[in-house]
Amino acid sequence: MHIEHNISLLPHNTFGMDVHANTVVTYASAAELTDLIHTVLPSCPKPLLHIGEGSNLLFMGDFGGTILLCSNRDIDIVEQDADNIVVRVGAGRIMDDFIDHAISHGWYGLENLSLIPGQVGASAVQNIGAYGVEAGDCIRRVHCVSLENATTRTFEHDECAYSYRHSIFKDADYRGRYAVVSVEYALSKHFAPHLDYGGIRNSILAAGLVPESIGARELRDIIIGIRQNKLPDPKVQGNAGSFFMNPIISRAEYERICTIVPNAPKYDIDANRVKVPAAWLIEQCGWKGQNLQRAGVHSRQPLVLVNLGGATGAEVKALSDRIRHDVFAHFGVHISPEVIFV
Ligand SMILES: Cc1cc2nc3c(=O)[nH]c(=O)nc-3n(C[C@H](O)[C@H](O)[C@H](O)COP(=O)(O)OP(=O)(O)OC[C@H]3O[C@@H](n4cnc5c(N)ncnc54)[C@H](O)[C@@H]3O)c2cc1C
Repeated sequence: MHIEHNISLLPHNTFGMDVHANTVVTYASAAELTDLIHTVLPSCPKPLLHIGEGSNLLFMGDFGGTILLCSNRDIDIVEQDADNIVVRVGAGRIMDDFIDHAISHGWYGLENLSLIPGQVGASAVQNIGAYGVEAGDCIRRVHCVSLENATTRTFEHDECAYSYRHSIFKDADYRGRYAVVSVEYALSKHFAPHLDYGGIRNSILAAGLVPESIGARELRDIIIGIRQNKLPDPKVQGNAGSFFMNPIISRAEYERICTIVPNAPKYDIDANRVKVPAAWLIEQCGWKGQNLQRAGVHSRQPLVLVNLGGATGAEVKALSDRIRHDVFAHFGVHISPEVIFV
């Protein structure tokens, strides 16, 4: 366990915000966290904020409270048979390391989430998703400690209420109340690739491979290649991935958009609803590659706002507000930030 004061959060957020936290507490296990909640945390400044790698956060200034970090990176087998395996992974493990480890051991299901930044604990909070797969599809249980009274609680899959980039841990009643200390992932020992999303098949063919016989490691490499081509590396240019969520709208609303721009892109959700790419809406409003002060819209992926160097949280928010305003003025559609403002 470490307790540190007046700590720079530069290494703890991918947007590159040069801000400080009053206190940072790092714990290694659920038992250690439970003990801290009884002994040390009552005298630490509030609020408490559990973070992972800070890859979905926008710090608006110095943080006067206490940041919690989990350093548990264990991977333990809970149960397995010839076809399936359940592993319990420490919240502090880097998600992409876990995916790499899983593929190496012949455990499948998470290949399409390769290279998404962040920790395993956050994957269960955020329900991370990419290329037609969401973490919640494979999460069996989430083990938590209450930050209010130090009791442990296990959320079964169905209690987590997973939907697009959402879980119960983001609901107003639960937000910030629990530390996720480990996550049980249920994976298959039989590789069943998901290839029908976002040009994966074309990339496989372009690499000279055959979609029908692709291996898990090859698919992971293809996904990593697509992402590296499309998304800025936060180590080079600060960002938090997709800044906005793709709006889910009614088919009637979609038809209205098509009267403004015919054949607007969409993904079908169900009989009544479609998801429209926010990147397309932003590009249509002329924001691709543009900037406001030191905050910019990425030139290849307009869903990503970038720190052009020394941007403040206020500058990024000002850009985000302008984009949201323009998308609403042009299309009558609200786009909401996926990134969490702190
Ligand atoms: C370049 C780039 C690409 C990205 N691509 C994608 C993508 O394709 N799909 C996608 O879904 N996301 C994507 N993201 C967003 C980000 O990777 C995910 O949201 C990720 O899950 C955040 O993990 P983190 O550890 O950085 O969490 P943080 O950003 O530190 O925290 C995110 C939220 O989770 C909470 N939290 C974190 N850990 C815990 C814990 N142990 N217990 C309780 N609460 C916790 C925090 O309080 C916060 O509310 C991308 C980000 C970047 C920078």
